[in-house]
Amino acid sequence: MKYPVYNFGAGPAVLPHVVLEQVQAELLDWHGRGISVMEMSHRGADYMQIIAEAEQDLRDLLQVPAHYKVLFLQGGATLQFAMVPINLLRGYARASYVQTGIWSAKAIAEARRFATVEVAASNADRQAHVVPLQSEWQVSADTAYVHIAGNETIGGLEFDFVPELGDIPLVSDASSHILSKPVDVSRFGLIYAGAQKNIGPAGLTLVIVRDDLIGHAPTGTATMLDYAVHAKEGSMHNTPPTFAIYVAALVFKWLQQLGGLGAMAEINARKAALLYAAIDNSGGFYNNAIEHRNRSQMNVPFTLHDAALDAIFLKEADAQGLLQLKGHRLLGGMRASIYNAMPEAGVLALVDFMRDFARRQG
Ligand code: PLP
Repeated sequence: MKYPVYNFGAGPAVLPHVVLEQVQAELLDWHGRGISVMEMSHRGADYMQIIAEAEQDLRDLLQVPAHYKVLFLQGGATLQFAMVPINLLRGYARASYVQTGIWSAKAIAEARRFATVEVAASNADRQAHVVPLQSEWQVSADTAYVHIAGNETIGGLEFDFVPELGDIPLVSDASSHILSKPVDVSRFGLIYAGAQKNIGPAGLTLVIVRDDLIGHAPTGTATMLDYAVHAKEGSMHNTPPTFAIYVAALVFKWLQQLGGLGAMAEINARKAALLYAAIDNSGGFYNNAIEHRNRSQMNVPFTLHDAALDAIFLKEADAQGLLQLKGHRLLGGMRASIYNAMPEAGVLALVDFMRDFARRQG
């Protein structure tokens, strides 16, 4: 295998190499304690320090206001599809969802098990290529919250605005773009994310939730599905995903050393611009159909002008160490996921390969 390889998989995604190296160095003997983080009591002083620092560093990176809780949970973003309506319905008649692609559709389907769902807007009639402007949304006044998927990982569609909803809490599935750029957390009631793109290993789910939205789960809710339980017990109601939190903590330090989310955003913007330019300037050899303002900075799906070339494109890319470019099975084509940990050198290598391939096959 050619080295270095660049992994464009959508998730579980690449982690920063320096983080993996640190994990390797500390794997058997964390800070001279003679054991691995995996073997530590989650209630011991060492681990309490790890999780406290992880939370503080995340708070600093995202400038999370004091009246929000940061919860380290399990069950993936998929469990949040259920926990959000269970906890946030608060006796309201309905919950509103904006449908922009496959992940928001899944969130809607799950919410329907617990709530009357109002689809406030949908782009299904526009091939999921654009985020409907807020002026097109229809949100009832008596709704519990409005849910969006801030970045649609499969479609490659990202919100270019934060909706303004007055007193109605805004909930965002930020699984595939959290920590990619600064965000004003105070504009949201709740943000959740599966860890396995920009945070760390799968198995950890992050929830950032405003205090007043905690404590409304109906009687009879399973303990583990109640935000109030996790908030009260500092994400330690049961054994948390200790190793995943430890790796996430190292990722947070890496982001801080890089200069924080502003610096990360600049790098991500450069990477995405390079890749979209290569697609747009290919004379139609490659195509990305997403409305420009909504093109995702993290997930870049594209097609080749002749799908018969897909297999050879993937085989040659793989041989050059450009891995996991195959598009999602529902959409076909290609998808390059360029999360935080993808270095600019990786995108440059991909763009070089794409130009060369188009020249040879065009
Ligand atoms: N939401 C989005 C936007 C995703 O990209 C994913 C997974 O890729 C999910 C939800 C589901 O996450 P999980 O597998 O952690 O349940």
